[in-house]
Amino acid sequence: MSALLIATNNRGKLAELKLIFAGLPCSVVSPADIGIDLEVAETGSTFEENAALKSAAFARASGLLTLADDSGLEVEALGGEPGILSARYAGENATDSERVSFLLSKMNGIPEGKRQARFRSVIAITTPQDLHTELCSGECHGIITFEPRGEKGFGYDPVFFLPQLGKTMAELPKDIKNGLSHRGIAARNAIPILNNLLNLLNNP
Ligand code: IMP
Repeated sequence: MSALLIATNNRGKLAELKLIFAGLPCSVVSPADIGIDLEVAETGSTFEENAALKSAAFARASGLLTLADDSGLEVEALGGEPGILSARYAGENATDSERVSFLLSKMNGIPEGKRQARFRSVIAITTPQDLHTELCSGECHGIITFEPRGEKGFGYDPVFFLPQLGKTMAELPKDIKNGLSHRGIAARNAIPILNNLLNLLNNP
């Protein structure tokens, strides 16, 4: 059976994506599972470019069908920040809680009613033979709270409030988050592409 490499060192992303892809006719592996230690510089200026950079680099290094997610938070009142800089917003080595505090400090004074935001995810899939890459995307709309709530998820989840559920993303179990999140939508858009590619790999 073929393998699909999920090219991320982010444990939150990995857990969510492994759950969504559990039904594919392949084993789903992480870089750590196959002994690859690779840090790809995110030098692109869009989610699309950075997702493609990561999946191509890991496909080249592993020789496996590879999928990478580039994602982030866009806050309307901050002109779309932090965007592609979401992971590095509070500095290279900041923790999730430092990133959340930094975001809340940047939004100090922005009133309720003007705190709309969206999460975006772009998933890139690269075939190892020819390094051809396909892209899928998803987005999810919410509101930035005034303080963190919830212990689940990762990143900005504790301050991303979903009015339709009356909860932050950090208050949702993984399967419920996957059902409505940017990454869940992008990943479900990727499933038919992955099934086609795996079919070709499994029946050469
Ligand atoms: P990158 O895709 O590795 O550049 O990092 C994306 C960053 O965006 C993460 O480190 C988080 O800070 C943030 N992010 C992306 N997706 C999510 C999510 O589902 N919940 C919370 N934060 C997220």
